[in-house]
Amino acid sequence: MLKIDNLHAEIDGKEILKGLTLNVGAGEVHAIMGPNGAGKSTLSYVLAGRTGYEVTAGSVTFDGQDLLALAPHERAAAGVFLGLQYPVEIPGVSNLMFLRTALNAQRVQRSEKEASGAEFMKLVKAAAGELGLPYEMLKRSVNQGFSGGEKKRNEMVQMAVLEPKLAVLDETDSGLDIDALRVVSDGINRMRSPDRATLLITHYQRLLDYVVPDFVHVLVDGRIVRTGGAELAHVLERDGYVSIAA
Ligand code: ADP
Ligand code: MG
Ligand code: MG
Repeated sequence: MLKIDNLHAEIDGKEILKGLTLNVGAGEVHAIMGPNGAGKSTLSYVLAGRTGYEVTAGSVTFDGQDLLALAPHERAAAGVFLGLQYPVEIPGVSNLMFLRTALNAQRVQRSEKEASGAEFMKLVKAAAGELGLPYEMLKRSVNQGFSGGEKKRNEMVQMAVLEPKLAVLDETDSGLDIDALRVVSDGINRMRSPDRATLLITHYQRLLDYVVPDFVHVLVDGRIVRTGGAELAHVLERDGYVSIAA
């Protein structure tokens, strides 16, 4: 589904990704772990097409298409969802307005019928209910004044409504207490299906107790330096990244 080959990318002329290669098949959950500053968030931004990130070499293919040739909104319509490490606040735009606009923009881009008000409300209420986000919060401005845990739940609501093929989740577990971690993990697990894939970027092994990945990759200094199964996360937790990078 996702083929990243020898990806090099820079920000402000500084090379961050230095030949990253990664293949993610449909139905798979891949965890990317690595020390601070390794380039994990940069990878997620490059996949989403954020401005300021320049790809200088390599390729990214998604469902057979050249992902890097698509504009950010086209990537979203193709089914790529990015969950941010630091979800943005959008004052003056309600969650409901934001989500409905995003959902219908995707549908228009895919030449599908837009969701009616009733269909949309059904979708969003179901998602909020499953993820334990009070419906009242959906009427508030996007993430404004939300706690860290509420922002992450809200991202999972967005994901559940938009039903991406590929979810790239950057440190979705950061700042979560145990209850919120469970809810968010359930949200990720619920999205698991043979035709979807997830790239879970995380510092800590803790999340991977709840969302057991098929593969774990270690990203150090812009490259994947090691790949293993779920057990690799436990090795990292015990020995740290230094042992791997050495
Ligand atoms: P990680 O998510 O693995 O902690 P990041 O992708 O956020 O790492 O950052 C990778 C490297 O890129 C870090 O050294 C960081 O300081 C650097 N970096 C990030 N953003 C910028 C920027 N706008 N300009 C210059 N360097 C940056
Ligand atoms: Mg970081
Ligand atoms: Mg990061």
